Amino acid sequence: ISKKLEPFQYTVWTEFTPLAIKNKAINLGQGFPGFPCPDFVKESLADATNSNENQYSRPQGVPALVEEIARHYGKKHNRVINPMTEVAVTEGATEGLLSAFLSMVDTGDEVVIIDPSFDLYVPQTILAGGIPKLVSLIPPEAGQTKWGVDFEKLEQAFNEKTRVFVINTPHNPLGKMFSSEELQKIAQILEKWPNVAIISDEVYEHIAFNENKHLSLCDFSNLWERTATFSSAGKIFSVTGWKIGWAVGGPEIMRKISTSHLWTTFCSNTTCQGAVARSLRMADNPYMGFPDYYQWIANQYSRKKEILYEILSNTKKFKIEPMEPEGGFFLLGRVNPNDIDPKYLANGSPDFAFCRWMTENLKICAIPCSAFFSPQSKHLGHNFVRFALCKDYSEYEAVARILN
Ligand code: PMP
Ligand code: GLN
Repeated sequence: ISKKLEPFQYTVWTEFTPLAIKNKAINLGQGFPGFPCPDFVKESLADATNSNENQYSRPQGVPALVEEIARHYGKKHNRVINPMTEVAVTEGATEGLLSAFLSMVDTGDEVVIIDPSFDLYVPQTILAGGIPKLVSLIPPEAGQTKWGVDFEKLEQAFNEKTRVFVINTPHNPLGKMFSSEELQKIAQILEKWPNVAIISDEVYEHIAFNENKHLSLCDFSNLWERTATFSSAGKIFSVTGWKIGWAVGGPEIMRKISTSHLWTTFCSNTTCQGAVARSLRMADNPYMGFPDYYQWIANQYSRKKEILYEILSNTKKFKIEPMEPEGGFFLLGRVNPNDIDPKYLANGSPDFAFCRWMTENLKICAIPCSAFFSPQSKHLGHNFVRFALCKDYSEYEAVARILN
């Protein structure tokens, strides 16, 4: 294996998904939906293939899809988006993020990333030749749930070598949604660094709980032009295997991402792009008694969050303090690993020990949060485990039978 890849041979997914399968455990680990996608989404895919949309496509995205994306996000960001220059369709947000780093980062350039972070920003930065500069969030006090931003530290992380700033809201794994006040302050810092590009990973944009509202950094301080705001059909329509994602933003930053995309996959899966275009169009229609599909899916996640919170609050199988998420696919629990079989603690950090123990002994899989923290702040993740909210009701019922 190349020296570049050598440090990145392990991912938490390649340990815990097989471990869940091997133990026949209920998998509340990896964030893929445990329920089928809507019928209108399935029918869209059948329609796309029957319409012979089966060959390579325009690299930046098939016209029907970029037009739907421009329409949808035009409404959201209250601006006219040019579908041909301000949208870049990618093979999932994953490839889009890689294309973004590859196209904006040269050897020795710095990338400021909020820590903890979804596990691929750091490896992708390094693969692009960049140096990740991680800025820790301030952990909540005992009994609290809010992770705070250390604006002073954030400000200090920027310098002449900084090329890219990365933010993720709703946040994986924390469930944090950056507030208007936080985004405003972050935007003020970015105003001082006009040459820094911004990657805003908003793949969980539609899943906000209670009074929380999803806000996009690109809508603050005229940051649109230099921000690539990512989303993913996988998360929106519960089709993570389709691997269709996109970014919206200014023409120059979109051109960079699409240029890199030419040399990674050239174009994304045409048939799935056609299906997503149709699905985005239909998602605005009333759905299952809700004014549109987005409100239905947000309500589903909200109900599952309540169910899981209740199960974890009432369990006597281990000590856990469930933490109310603001948005996204996940709920964190603060655990006390002293409760578990000590043989698991001999190998690795307490959160890993807890998740291995729970998967093997209780047949429930969750993800250890320290996997998302940088080496210098890993200790902050050691008492947190992450449970997915994107599973089927039957899976939460099964979890309740084990834990309650
Ligand atoms: N960003 C975040 C925060 C995620 O959780 C995921 C889920 N894998 C991705 C990006 C990747 O999205 P996709 O499945 O579209 O590649
Ligand atoms: N985003 C998903 C999660 O956090 C899956 C990640 C992956 O499979 N790469 O669970």
